[in-house]
Amino acid sequence: MSVKRSDLSFNEVLAKYPNFPKLIALKIDMHRRGLYYTSKALSIFDPTRHQQGGTHIFGTRDGKLTARPEALTLRDGTSVLSQPAPIEHNPYIVDLIDGKLMITDQNEAIDEAFFWDKPDYYDKRLPSGAIMQNVASARPQRLYIAPNRYCHFWSDGEGCKFCDIVNNLKQQKEEIAMPARLKPDDVRETVKEALKEKGRFTAICLTAGSDFHGEKPFDKEIDYYIEILQAIGECFETARFPAQLICTAVTKEQIKRLYDNTGVSSLTYDIETLDETEFNRVCPGKARWIGYKEWKKRLIDATEIFGANRVNTGIVSGSELAGDTRFTSEDEALDCALKEADDLASNGVSVVNMVWIPRPKSPFANERNGSLEYYVKLAIGLQEIRRRHKLEIDFDDYRRCGNHPDSDLARAF
Ligand code: SF4
Repeated sequence: MSVKRSDLSFNEVLAKYPNFPKLIALKIDMHRRGLYYTSKALSIFDPTRHQQGGTHIFGTRDGKLTARPEALTLRDGTSVLSQPAPIEHNPYIVDLIDGKLMITDQNEAIDEAFFWDKPDYYDKRLPSGAIMQNVASARPQRLYIAPNRYCHFWSDGEGCKFCDIVNNLKQQKEEIAMPARLKPDDVRETVKEALKEKGRFTAICLTAGSDFHGEKPFDKEIDYYIEILQAIGECFETARFPAQLICTAVTKEQIKRLYDNTGVSSLTYDIETLDETEFNRVCPGKARWIGYKEWKKRLIDATEIFGANRVNTGIVSGSELAGDTRFTSEDEALDCALKEADDLASNGVSVVNMVWIPRPKSPFANERNGSLEYYVKLAIGLQEIRRRHKLEIDFDDYRRCGNHPDSDLARAF
């Protein structure tokens, strides 16, 4: 059954939601559709000054790892983590017009954009031989570390259907010698080097594939995060440091062990979709090992350890509309997501959304994501819920993360 979707254009959405910031709508639409750099735009990309992509834990939208810009910043500081898409997919075109990098659509210039600045540490090598950008990639103000690029749900064919992590790892190993698993010493030395660039980084984020091994399920995942976080902690003089861990929803005892033995300060258990039926269908590994209701319970449990405003969950919005979904319309999916987000918020847990990108090496490669109007309504709804429940999201906002249109709104609404 096909899902009923809004067909409003970019300008029609702006007209219907006049208070919604144009540049955040543009970011959403670029995430939805992808982008394409013209050769003129690439002529001003300077790999000695600008940050190149290819190091991310998830794959690219056109399946290529060739050296090209990591991402863009808009005039208001909004990050656009959009990637090149095949030209036949109708992406936005990034062109050079009168010496300025411009985002264009159907030959109309929409707004100016800027390449990200490359961090000072990026090309340095560790004693182990690893290049530092493969240990920690960067966003404008945050270090992003993926200690383990293998997800064990894939071993049983139970990876999330929107995800390409293991296929991406295979490609990265072949093409850029990406290590599957990081050594704690390499992580510590890279963070130490990155922090020498005064004023650039305000936070660290860790995320990795799930590992259900151990005496109790996921003990091994937690043991390894403790090792890595302790190594990072050696770079700081304070007991707690600004680090967000995105991991599997483990038990209260397991997350307390991690909290007590490291300086991590905020926590994310990504539930991916806010509906039990869709969770079971889209995330079979998470469903079998933990389950939807238990995932929610563990999020709420974690607020008792991390405190208020320090726990959230992410959704890959639009993946619930793909394939054999139970939803018949975007509005039905939206109602369901916002009710569940409200329930979590009433228990101290924020929800942030990622615009789902169908990646060619994932099971949902040939599916469609949501409409622009759907994502605009979702961003407004999630931000309103957070405001109503007086929740803050500074550890996952436009400065720290830059991937969530709803948390971009925290500075506008
Ligand atoms: S848990 Fe799901 S989204 Fe996360 S790495 Fe594994 S398959 Fe991918």
